[in-house]
Amino acid sequence: MAFFQDPPRLGNQFDEDPMLPSWIARHLGSEDVVAELRSLGDLAVEHYGKQLADRLNEPTLTQWDAWGNRIDRIDVSPLWQEAQALAARHGMVAAGYDPRHGARARTHQFAIVHVLGPSLDVYSCPLAMTDGATRTLLGSGNQALIDRYVPLLTSRDPATMWTSGQWMTERTGGSDVSQTETVARKDGDTWRLHGTKWFTSATTSQMALTLARPEGNPDGSRGLALFLVELRDANGRLRNIQVNRLKDKLGTRKVPTAELTLDGAPATLVGSASDGVRAIAPMLGVTRTWNAVSAVSGMRRGLALAADYARRRKVFGALLVDKPLHTDTLAGIEAEYAGAFCLAFRSVALLGALEHGGTDTEERLARALVPIAKLTTGKQAVAVASEAIEACGGAGYVEDTGLPRILADAQVLPIWEGTTNVLSLDTLRALGKGGALEAIAGEVERNVAIATDPGLATPGEVARAAVRHAIAWVGEAMPQPDRLEAGARRFAMTLGRCLELALLVGHAQWCLDHGFGPRTAAAARRFAQNGVDQISDAPLDDSKLLA
Ligand SMILES: Cc1cc2nc3c(=O)[nH]c(=O)nc-3n(C[C@H](O)[C@H](O)[C@H](O)COP(=O)(O)OP(=O)(O)OC[C@H]3O[C@@H](n4cnc5c(N)ncnc54)[C@H](O)[C@@H]3O)c2cc1C
Repeated sequence: MAFFQDPPRLGNQFDEDPMLPSWIARHLGSEDVVAELRSLGDLAVEHYGKQLADRLNEPTLTQWDAWGNRIDRIDVSPLWQEAQALAARHGMVAAGYDPRHGARARTHQFAIVHVLGPSLDVYSCPLAMTDGATRTLLGSGNQALIDRYVPLLTSRDPATMWTSGQWMTERTGGSDVSQTETVARKDGDTWRLHGTKWFTSATTSQMALTLARPEGNPDGSRGLALFLVELRDANGRLRNIQVNRLKDKLGTRKVPTAELTLDGAPATLVGSASDGVRAIAPMLGVTRTWNAVSAVSGMRRGLALAADYARRRKVFGALLVDKPLHTDTLAGIEAEYAGAFCLAFRSVALLGALEHGGTDTEERLARALVPIAKLTTGKQAVAVASEAIEACGGAGYVEDTGLPRILADAQVLPIWEGTTNVLSLDTLRALGKGGALEAIAGEVERNVAIATDPGLATPGEVARAAVRHAIAWVGEAMPQPDRLEAGARRFAMTLGRCLELALLVGHAQWCLDHGFGPRTAAAARRFAQNGVDQISDAPLDDSKLLA
């Protein structure tokens, strides 16, 4: 009888997660939440099956109807339509604003996102922007906009929930928005926007927050203002917006990312008629946290499939899981996942804390930790996805197994919401404001100091040594701007990795003390061996020769 390989399968995506159950027990301790996440863990498996079946359904743009009318209709995949309803029903945005869990509402919300997100074909993208828009509006002080839009954005009813886009990137750039060309012109009581938006990922959303320059404002980012655009009129027609085309992308292929022309699109000013970059900053804090959680949930999905495959695939007379080298390979990436999980969910907890008051230390810590978490986990997501699909051999490279999508979708995580370099420089700026580096060192020490188990002593010392080295380096490099900038990524990565390790050490001790076993401690030991301290000075002259 011919041989056919059993494909990798998923088990319950809550119960089988090596990190989430203990984290929830420690930080939420609610049986109701455990039951909810367990049921979502099954739903995630069901939707993974649908995702595989729906693989070739991609969004389409119809620009004209049969009679020559410009309609610019975007149709999304059936799974995306289902995802909209699931997201509302399971409160993937709303749970973050639910008063029942107070400051821990964010942990609850992102646990839901972590379990369900990887089965929803990157529907997390519009949800992240919806959450970011909610936070931005709440912080804007514009009560009329808050009253009108926040109940829609945080609705749990699929019939009434709205999503929001975020239109910042233009042809002139996404990292540097100071050259934004979109102009806002006053037209009676309203504003009208004229310009081109080069990447808009949620064009099917009902609204968007966007930057534009009110006519007569000065050049540069100060002259930009933040606007809210309702995309369609009561008949569903786009309001002076044209969809030029959908992007043909490496991954996130279910996400209808479009290029738009705004041809007098009516818009409402969110705050003042300038300082829009500052006004939209709360959005970035939220979307970068979503990015970090999406990175770890993507890693988890890749690992789950690779680990299951290792129990089904026989080579050289034994299952892969019984081959020491394969086990070593999987262990290396599980440790990366475990560290990334801790950092992403620490970022989540800080977001919740700051939304409910928060201490000065938390404020200083969050300022640097959020960009660090985004950039570190984004890079890990790509590396882990690549290793996970390699662990499935040739099948990992064949599209209709669904496995290559994991890598293609991961590759966007270090790009959008701020690239690795841009966020490394943001980290330096955040540290420049004072107190943030001390807050990071304090966070590392607090977590390492929790550990009493002898098996955690060495990883704890690795984290301490790395943060000491990073602090010494930045102190030395500070007076040399080129050296500081050239080393910014290695510096930020070192902070990210030593935070991950320290958080992992602290959580591992909690797991040992509370009956969750030695697996997290093993992850901490392995993570410490994966390389934490990346500080080094590559001579700039050499770099110039090479680049
Ligand atoms: C799938 C997808 C969906 C997107 N959806 C949206 C959306 O909905 N809304 C939206 O507004 N945008 C969206 N974007 C755009 C995205 O946010 C930008 O592409 C991203 O911010 C990078 O900007 P850029 O393309 O201008 O790259 P650039 O800024 O040109 O960057 C090019 C390279 O230069 C590096 N770099 C830039 N500045 C520096 C510096 N000072 N020092 C060192 N290195 C530097 C970067 O790290 C990068 O490697 C999306 C992008 C993708 C891929």
